[in-house]
Amino acid sequence: MTDEVHFTIERDDNVGRYAVAKEKLNAGDIIFSEEPFAYGPKSDSACLCLGCHNLVDCTVLCSKCSWPVCGSDCENLSCHKNYECEIFSKANIKFQAVEDPSDVCLQYECITPLRVLLIKEKNPQRWEEEIQLMESHNDIRKQKPIWEFNQHNIVEYLRGPCKLDRFSEDLIHSVCGILEINAFEARNPSGYSTVRCLFPKLAILSHNCISNIHHAIDVKGNGNSNDYRVIVRAAVGIPKGGQLYSSYTYSLWPTLVRREFLRESKFFDCKCERCSDKTELGTHCGTLKCNKCDNGIIMSTNPLDDTCEWKCTHCEFKTNAVAVRKVFAAIQAEIDAVDYTTGPGGIEKREAIYRKYRSVLHPKNSYMSILRSALTQLYGKSDEYTLEDLPDIILERKVELCNQLLEVLNVIEPGRSRIRGITLYELHGPLMVLAKHQYLNDVITKEFFRNDLKKAIDVLGEAVQILKQEPENSPEGQLGNMAETAYKQLLDNIDMLVESA
Ligand SMILES: [Zn+2]
Ligand SMILES: [Zn+2]
Ligand SMILES: [Zn+2]
Ligand SMILES: [Zn+2]
Repeated sequence: MTDEVHFTIERDDNVGRYAVAKEKLNAGDIIFSEEPFAYGPKSDSACLCLGCHNLVDCTVLCSKCSWPVCGSDCENLSCHKNYECEIFSKANIKFQAVEDPSDVCLQYECITPLRVLLIKEKNPQRWEEEIQLMESHNDIRKQKPIWEFNQHNIVEYLRGPCKLDRFSEDLIHSVCGILEINAFEARNPSGYSTVRCLFPKLAILSHNCISNIHHAIDVKGNGNSNDYRVIVRAAVGIPKGGQLYSSYTYSLWPTLVRREFLRESKFFDCKCERCSDKTELGTHCGTLKCNKCDNGIIMSTNPLDDTCEWKCTHCEFKTNAVAVRKVFAAIQAEIDAVDYTTGPGGIEKREAIYRKYRSVLHPKNSYMSILRSALTQLYGKSDEYTLEDLPDIILERKVELCNQLLEVLNVIEPGRSRIRGITLYELHGPLMVLAKHQYLNDVITKEFFRNDLKKAIDVLGEAVQILKQEPENSPEGQLGNMAETAYKQLLDNIDMLVESA
């Protein structure tokens, strides 16, 4: 992997630094790739191995510093051994046993900031060129509860017991701010989202609630260089000079929720095209149905004001953003409560929430999409059934959910985005089986059957293109490999599939 970079950095007095395409980029083109400046546990972390960042039960401790690891291989990984392990051993800072290792463990708060500080000393040039310029918003954060929290759990801990008073209070707070605002989440080798990484180049890209890049973090889990390297690609075609945007928030959320998240955790008011439009560019992610009239829908009167009135398009009904925000929070809580429920029970529970809110939310509302995204991946996955065994009514439901979700994704996650890739993959299977059933029942001719099969194979082809961008050892990368094999076989055998049906 080369360090070639296909963007240039521009400066603007109002918005600061931003990145534009150096030349015309096609969807899928690599824009750049970089190693993290530092990586480590996220804030609010449960107990992790400090080598591989997998969750641990804290029964095995590092032989040198007595903090949790998986074993001797992990304690010798350089991300631990050459950083906090040396500091903790020297200052004799031992890990304090906890009751429940899966609970948030505040002792971990200091780890990632400490790694950043130590790397700053080892690589002052990279710090000066790439990190020092990053926003830490100490002025705003000073007014927030997070400041006291960091002061107590990180600043005083490092400068006191860890004997690191060579780092000033201000510097440590700045490092905390830089991490809070700029770090990207990553999954550990077991697939759990326990890690945060600081990518200086990726952090230059401005935020937009519709990103035009795709980033994939390749966790090798060897604790050495090249671990957690990020590869950034164009998700859609970008003209020469076009600005590059990443998204710091969850694209499926409605504007009200995205803007609140960005304001509270990234300290800015997003005014992007999607946020500024009442209909969220026709996706209606935040729109509600009016229950006071027949065809009315309820939308914000000013999406950039989070306290404004929301009005029905057909009758006099009015409410306000604060009330709508409460409705969204209640629905989100119901969805979160079934987050880990899979199998037939998971389908039933989500379909029940879906039915409950169908009369309250616009059909394309975010929470309907969030439910669809889970349901499309659950239907047809039961061990007892393969797609071939499912009744048409279930297959049709899966197709319907995929298509409704894609309608929204085509706008808010355009091009080669991970969630589009997965949804397209989920769509191709039921399309193929349904076509076969229709042909066998004489609903369609052989010619139409062949056409429908070809269309389904093309859907799979697009999914392959997207999922092949993912690191090979990630779940999506493995799905991509499997999908590619299936795609090639289907293309080769389409005639036989038609004749033998
Ligand atoms: Zn480990
Ligand atoms: Zn150690
Ligand atoms: Zn926005
Ligand atoms: Zn109405």
